[in-house]
Amino acid sequence: MALLFEMRRVLVTMAQVGTRMHALGLASTADAEGLAALSPQLTTTYQESCVAGCLLAQICRQNAGAQPSVLGDHVAQTLGETIDLPRALALLQDAPATNEREAWLGPVLREAAALFGPSTIVQGRAA
Ligand code: SF4
Repeated sequence: MALLFEMRRVLVTMAQVGTRMHALGLASTADAEGLAALSPQLTTTYQESCVAGCLLAQICRQNAGAQPSVLGDHVAQTLGETIDLPRALALLQDAPATNEREAWLGPVLREAAALFGPSTIVQGRAA
């Protein structure tokens, strides 16, 4: 039963990829040169489920760089799309907020640091 589920998931994904490639102007997903030419237009959204469901997870995690999603979906949701990890660290260290979200986030991060101990969070490792 699990195998059938996985096969169905693969077929659905293949259809979605084909539709997306066609929308981007590629006639066939077997067109390797066309795929290579399209690659700069393709974006990825690394998230926790990638680890369990995609062979490219390690590559996409590396490409995500300092995006909050590398620390998990909850961190990504909390920081939002406009605050990356260096900016979150700056807010933790009392950098002035530049907008409403940062004004909310700075005190929250500092409160969390107080709970876990500042060296734990700033140095990025457990005590
Ligand atoms: S690992 Fe990358 S390619 Fe795979 S589902 Fe996640 S974002 Fe998409």
